[in-house]
Order: sequence, then structure tokens, then C-alpha cells
Amino acid sequence: MLIHARLVMALVALVIASSAHASNDLDPIECSACESWNEAVEPYALAPHTWYVGTRGLASVLIADPDGLVLIDGGLPQSVPHILANVRKLGFAPRNIRWVLNSHAHFDHAGGIAALARLSGAKVGAGARGVVALETGLYHPDDAQIDFGEAARYPAVASVVAVQPGEVIRVGALEITAIATPGHAPGGMSWTWPACVAPGDCRQMVYLDSLNAVSAPDYRFLDHPEVLADLRASIDRVRGLDCDVAMAAHPDQVPADGAGSPCARYAESAARRLEKRLAQERAAREPGTSDAR
Ligand SMILES: [Zn+2]
Repeated sequence: MLIHARLVMALVALVIASSAHASNDLDPIECSACESWNEAVEPYALAPHTWYVGTRGLASVLIADPDGLVLIDGGLPQSVPHILANVRKLGFAPRNIRWVLNSHAHFDHAGGIAALARLSGAKVGAGARGVVALETGLYHPDDAQIDFGEAARYPAVASVVAVQPGEVIRVGALEITAIATPGHAPGGMSWTWPACVAPGDCRQMVYLDSLNAVSAPDYRFLDHPEVLADLRASIDRVRGLDCDVAMAAHPDQVPADGAGSPCARYAESAARRLEKRLAQERAAREPGTSDAR
């Protein structure tokens, strides 16, 4: 009888623990921009078989094939109900999502991925160094924002597939190619695919990873030549992409006007931001400042 009671107690504890775990990955993350980023917006078409299903400030893109769906990026944990509602509004079932792909492992693009994977049963794919971060719910040790530490924690993803640069994710006729764009975050990936009305009648769609030189306080890109080289190479790679339609991880960051493809304009704006940042770092080191030696 005593053994029976202990068994029941153990089972009750297990159920409580697992239900607590299940709700954790939807607990909202708080940040200064989170509320405005997370405003609900209606889904809209970007290209054939391709829709924006994210929130006001954090992109999520859905790509559909009769054999299944692919979702890119998961916003914040509190974005998940909006994203899934948008998927349903378009007439799709979340259980048909085969892959959730990530641009980079920061709380504002990866925060909802654990819940999205759990609720849909989808596999999760990211760049190899992104896998390290996603599976811990922290930033990669080489991340320029690593010193934000616990403040930047997000729900860890149980299992993530490492996608190599140039690798193609296939669902039915969909072919989504991974483009390595590290620098803003280690393991960062952009994703590109032909969105076709009919064979030969396609628009090349690009989901653009962040390329902004943003860091925690006291970090200097000039002190991290490998991160700087990553960022510069990623900007050059994006500039040269075949790119009819682009959506960025933060949707307002693709300049609406200007010369070249949307990807080239995005790359130019990232390059300008990087050079401005480096100039500030150099200026802070000039003689007469406390940082001179
Ligand atoms: Zn980021």
C-alpha cells in the first residue's frame, strides 16, 4: 500500500513537472521593444506559396508545399500564438510544419522556436554554431552580445539539426538553400528559395538574417577580427545574392528605395552601419581618451 502511494506521488510529481515544462516555453520574454515588436498583424503574401506570418517587428515566413510546410523564425515565446493563428488563417494546419528554420540564435528570433517545435512536431534547423546556442537557450560564447548573459536567455530547443552552408532543405518540391551569414551572431543563416507560379516562372525569395553590428557594452568589433571578417563576408555574400523579393528578420530593415536588389540595399545599409560603428570604436581609442593605451 505504501509502495502504491509512493508510486502515485511520483507520478503526480512527474505530471506537474512535465506540464510546468510544457508551459515554460510560452512564458513571455520582457524587453523594451518586445511589446511593439509583438503586435499582431494579419498574414500577407510575399511571393507564390510564401506568406508573412510574423508579428509587427519580428518576421516569420511560411512556405507551403502539398507535402508540408516550412516556417522560418519563431519570434518571441509570446509571438507563437500569433504565428500559429496566422498559419491557420491561411488555411494550413500547424501539425504539417516539417521544419522550423532559424536565422540566428537570439531571443527575438529564436524565443518561440521551442514552443513551435513542440506544438507542431517540426524539426528545427540552424547553422552549426546556432545549434550550440539554441540547445542551451543562451547565446554562443563567441557572440558579440554574450555579455547580456541571463537577460538574453530564451527557451532552449531540445534537438536542432545542424545545416551546412549551401545545404538544401527539401519538402516536396520546395528547395530552400542555406546561405551562411554569421557576424551578427555565430552560425547565422539566411535562406533562399525559388517561389514558383509554374516551372520556369519563379521569383527568387530571400529571408535575410540580421547583419547589424550590435554588441553588449564594452565589446569592440576591432578586438575580434574573426567576427569582423565574418560580418564583412556575410555582407558581401548578401549583396551578391539572386534576390527578387526579400524579407529581413526585422521586417523594417530592408530599405524600400535605392539602387540594386532588395538584398543589395540591405547589404549597403549594414555596411554603412558597420563602418560607422568601427569609426566610433577608433575614435574612442584616440589619444586623450581614457582608452588611449
Ligand atoms: Zn540578433
